Amino acid sequence: MRKLGVHTSIAGGLHRSVERAHALGCTTVQIFSHNPRGWAVKSISQEEAAIFKSMKTHFDVSPVYIHTSYLINMASRDSGLKKKSINLLVIEMDRADTMGADYVVLHPGSASGDDQYVSRSRAVNALNEVAAMGQWNAGLLIENTAGEKGDISSTIENLSDIINGVKESLIKGICIDTCHAFAAGYDIRNDKGIQNFSDKIEKYIGLDNVKLIHLNDSKGDIGSGVDRHEHIGIGQIGSKGLKIFICYSSFRNIPLILETPKKRESDDSHNLRKVRKMIRSLGD
Ligand SMILES: [Zn+2]
Ligand SMILES: [Zn+2]
Repeated sequence: MRKLGVHTSIAGGLHRSVERAHALGCTTVQIFSHNPRGWAVKSISQEEAAIFKSMKTHFDVSPVYIHTSYLINMASRDSGLKKKSINLLVIEMDRADTMGADYVVLHPGSASGDDQYVSRSRAVNALNEVAAMGQWNAGLLIENTAGEKGDISSTIENLSDIINGVKESLIKGICIDTCHAFAAGYDIRNDKGIQNFSDKIEKYIGLDNVKLIHLNDSKGDIGSGVDRHEHIGIGQIGSKGLKIFICYSSFRNIPLILETPKKRESDDSHNLRKVRKMIRSLGD
């Protein structure tokens, strides 16, 4: 069975995220392990961790992905911000291990005003500092970004440069976001475009290293560089494109997490229903 989930809220306790995922019929989940817009992070009690783990086992929700805070910027020029980013990423990894989460997902960072090679090597150095600060069971996944100004990770080659520069023990693979890939100029709406994209991944990173797909439609057009997610099927990629993508041989066994907009209570179940229909049409 294809692993399918959404990003759920931890309001009311960490374990509530797993309950919410289960209630939506999900078999995998992504969460923030704390408020993603604040630097201050309260530690997880043993009791909280135990409840989270037993809930995850009880409902058989796995893998569990933790999305890192939006404040982290490994490519920052500001040494204070860089230091805080390194410390917070270490905390994210520690929390993942405490909760028994499988992966931590990171946007590698951005730094407008600098050459992207300079920014990227700064991020690589910062990630190596993190790698030197511990060993974790959870694997770090770096995510492709949409190509907004200052982005250092919108192409497969960019991701490969980061992976190759960082000590092996830390980064365990990549997360592909369909909205970001499309906004960065990859035409994933048809077989030919998806094959090109898949070939690139195989050549530079290896398809085995794709550990997660963020399945989002895109408000922005192809190559727009705009990171705005849209409901499944009503964006610029469209149902047909998303369906071809998730059913493509290279990607058909990779867990899917939706990060689609949530304005109404029914939004998640509505988007999940559309994706389930796409998966069913494949016959597994
Ligand atoms: Zn994403
Ligand atoms: Zn995004």
